[in-house]
Amino acid sequence: MPTKSRWTASIPSICLPTYLFTSPTADLPTVPAIISTTSPLTHFLTHSSYRLWSQRFALGLKRAGLQPGDRVLLFSGNTLFFPVVLMGTIMAGGVFTGANPSYVARELAYQLHDSGARFLICAEGSLETGLVAAESIRMPRDRIFVFDDGAATFERRGRDVQGIQHWNSLLASPEAGRSFVWEELSTEEELNRTIALNYSSGTTGVPKGVMITHRNYVANCIQTAYLAQTDPEYDERRLRSRLLCFLPMYHAMAQTIFCVSAPISQVPVYLMPKFDFLGMLEAIQKFRITDLILVPPIVVALAKHPATRSFDLDSVERVGSGAAPLGREVCAELERLWPDGRVNVKQGWGMTEATCTVTSFEPNAISLSFSVGELAPNCEAKIVDDETGQHEVKQGDRGELWVRAPNIMKGYWRKPEATKEALTEDGWLRTGDIAYMDEKNHIFIVDRKKELIKVKGIQVAPAELEALLLDHHAVADAAVIGVTIKGEEAPRAYIVLNKGEKATAKEIAEFMKTRVNRSKWLTGGIRFVDAIPKNPSGKILRKILRDQAEAEVGDS
Ligand code: AMP
Repeated sequence: MPTKSRWTASIPSICLPTYLFTSPTADLPTVPAIISTTSPLTHFLTHSSYRLWSQRFALGLKRAGLQPGDRVLLFSGNTLFFPVVLMGTIMAGGVFTGANPSYVARELAYQLHDSGARFLICAEGSLETGLVAAESIRMPRDRIFVFDDGAATFERRGRDVQGIQHWNSLLASPEAGRSFVWEELSTEEELNRTIALNYSSGTTGVPKGVMITHRNYVANCIQTAYLAQTDPEYDERRLRSRLLCFLPMYHAMAQTIFCVSAPISQVPVYLMPKFDFLGMLEAIQKFRITDLILVPPIVVALAKHPATRSFDLDSVERVGSGAAPLGREVCAELERLWPDGRVNVKQGWGMTEATCTVTSFEPNAISLSFSVGELAPNCEAKIVDDETGQHEVKQGDRGELWVRAPNIMKGYWRKPEATKEALTEDGWLRTGDIAYMDEKNHIFIVDRKKELIKVKGIQVAPAELEALLLDHHAVADAAVIGVTIKGEEAPRAYIVLNKGEKATAKEIAEFMKTRVNRSKWLTGGIRFVDAIPKNPSGKILRKILRDQAEAEVGDS
């Protein structure tokens, strides 16, 4: 029998802009909601101005020819206007897709092409990459707009660069924006319209656009808010809460938490333009941050880096981690920073295919294990025999985690076969994670059945690297797996060379560095082998390679 969450939240039939802003004209708070850590007194969005900027952008997009369902790709690090592009696109009836700002041109071109983006909004510092990518897929230059770090837009000094228009040329006037009304949706069919394509490789293959709907977003924000509200002191706590955002907003975790849930609950978000460890410590101290939402490498750094102890982190009350596995020992080490024992590091688990969150802990629960918590409201789960995929295993046994919930994606963009592999007909998502559930229905993630590698919390798809390796003239066959070195995952390649060809590991590593961003570099090592182990139908037997790597790592 599948396990059901012990809570049920009521999920209203409303679209995401209405959930976030109530209506196009309702009174909204005018206190700072999303605040730049570099210019906090002058550069911020209030809940009210966030809506107005989004309305101005939505109207501008429509005037520029955006048709319902058109995709808008944002290629930028976090800026104050990142949430505006996200929400403005959705208000205009478009589909938002964010790309990793460290992508090289080839990677960006893939997402531009795969999503069929009609508009590219590109950070000024990445314009060279953006233009090369756009040209390679023959995207007209008048569909590209330069995005800034927020300052130029606020100060109305945005300028065209290399003949590419500044994005503020797309913004309608404040008066026109104020009267922009987004389409109100209420039927199930309308709410199941795709509003975002968040890229993920899923259990196998290259990155795919995960179709997230209004219903998915609204549900997932309500599910997580519901859990927070089980705390009897929720209101008191909310009033003194302050969040710090350095996680990338192209990923659903930062979108749901910082762009949607925090403004609704009136919890201010301090936004760092990009992550740097000392900058994070300074910001926690300066802005008296109460809640830290982290990924494992940052938990490790906080626990172990000597600089941590030179800052006043006394304001911190809660620490959460997700995106990749994290051992309990390091959580305990981090907790010792607060000698009164009041901070308990808790993990959550989720997936791009589930909008964001599926499991977490109640606010007042104490986690003393590496569990990722229990099911969020309205979620169901079962642990299925991972060999056969046929039946549930006994309680406490390991198997593949399957989940079903209103936050599960509609499917993969234009990939019906991959969708069929990921989702069963009755709505279960096969997560590719190996887990077990204890007698209190707490979930423990113990392994990954899928190919996916997570480098500092960022997805790396082996299939993408394998295809690139095969482009090298000396490579006859290749397989890439993840290895753990000093607690961190890294991609490692096994390579068969063409007969008579020679290539060194260094050459191959350099070849890859020009084609992929840093998270995909083969930092886990390169091994030359005579053959890649495969089953009779040609599928790589990754388990064999993983076992082999475990024995080898250290001498690579
Ligand atoms: P993403 O779609 O990028 O959010 O990646 C989702 C995957 O990250 C999951 O399927 C897991 O493999 C992994 N993951 C996320 N959270 C955790 C966690 N708390 N512990 C272990 N693995 C996790």
